[in-house]
Amino acid sequence: MPDRYCLDPFIDALKNRAPGEDAFHQAVRDVARDIIPVINDTPAYQDACLLERLTEPDRMMSFRVAWERDDGSIAVNRAYRVQFNGAIGPYKGGLRFHPSVTPSVLKFLGFEQTFKNALTGLPMGGAKGGSDFDPSGCSDAEIERFCQAMMMELHRHIGPDRDVPAGDINVGAREIGYLFGAYRRITGDYQGVLTGKGLSYGGSEMRIEATGYGLIYFLREMLRQTDGDLDGQTIVISGAGNVATYAAEKAIALGSKVVALSDSTGAVLDKDGFTDEKLAWVRDLKSGSGGSLEDYADAFSADWKAGQTPWGIDCDIALPCAAQNEMDEDAARQLLNNGCRAIAEGANMPLTAGAKDFVRDSDRLFGPAKAANAGGVAVSGLEIWQNRRRRSAEEDDIAEALEGLMSDIHARCAEEGERKDGHIDYARGVNVAGFKTVADAMVAQGIG
Ligand code: GLU
Repeated sequence: MPDRYCLDPFIDALKNRAPGEDAFHQAVRDVARDIIPVINDTPAYQDACLLERLTEPDRMMSFRVAWERDDGSIAVNRAYRVQFNGAIGPYKGGLRFHPSVTPSVLKFLGFEQTFKNALTGLPMGGAKGGSDFDPSGCSDAEIERFCQAMMMELHRHIGPDRDVPAGDINVGAREIGYLFGAYRRITGDYQGVLTGKGLSYGGSEMRIEATGYGLIYFLREMLRQTDGDLDGQTIVISGAGNVATYAAEKAIALGSKVVALSDSTGAVLDKDGFTDEKLAWVRDLKSGSGGSLEDYADAFSADWKAGQTPWGIDCDIALPCAAQNEMDEDAARQLLNNGCRAIAEGANMPLTAGAKDFVRDSDRLFGPAKAANAGGVAVSGLEIWQNRRRRSAEEDDIAEALEGLMSDIHARCAEEGERKDGHIDYARGVNVAGFKTVADAMVAQGIG
């Protein structure tokens, strides 16, 4: 009979096995605290050594990407693909281009993706990839050459039945187009090997909006549990990319007032509230020169908070949609003290461990990323299905499917996360529901 798991010794052993990988340790601890009691109560899980197996990626590729800058000089970057867990379907997860990309960050993202994908109910394993390449300041031609050089190696590891990457931070429709074109030319095969493609070559309706819209659908379900809705709520959002701006758009459509967005240079407070036109302006700003939101403050006479996050602004709801660990415990405390009633995560792991413990221990609503931002990968799952049929679905059908998927995800989390006092601990719900799906598949498939 194997020993019962204990959280601290397990995390100490993980730290020995994967030294210095702080983000990965943080993500594993978050899940392990909730699933250890389930494993200890289930002999089949305990016997299968599941916790150790689930926290070791199936495999991880690291490779050199050498490419030519416009001035003729050669640049060298490092790229990765982490295929984390393939028990329930071909690997699936985004590619991120950012100087902060390290094995630790990709392992945390691939680990979380495994649970997130399982929760969608679609057959997708968990993966993540990317490069330490910094696209800021690069010309379009440089981005194209980087993507082609990256695919020169990546194509060996992916395929419609093996691994289907998509976008993530700094990887959008343009980059997916260059990556897809390179894959097709290298292999000679026209296959649905990436999602987030353009509509003219196999992409899905709603993929760009899906993560942001899905976040708001999940939030709406959470609010319904307490007889609330989005009408008349004041919302602050961090970030200014697709997740943030499409979450804002959907929240506004459902009657909320969105008063803040942010980027790496600061936060903008628009007391009149954002509108669809203002959000389109922000998207233009970010897709073009990648300018600062300070320009927005100038253009629309809004308040500019240089170098700050939006968490000091009074609100009913806060949506962190920028990057990992962007909200610390002090910021979370300030938000709740100021009356914020709900926090839902649009980015992956945007709350530090301290902030998350603080919010989970409170009586406020908390929507964890693995559930709340699953709309993006869920529509990716629908894109895979459309590619298999070689037929695209109508926008209305995808929109309806996204709402249904988010409501099912909410129901799965609520079922596993309901406490005796009636409060729903969604963080526990997502961890336990995602775990059970993957664990049952692993047990059924034997040791490996
Ligand atoms: N990068 C997104 C995520 O974090 C989407 C992944 C995908 O569509 O494969 O879930």
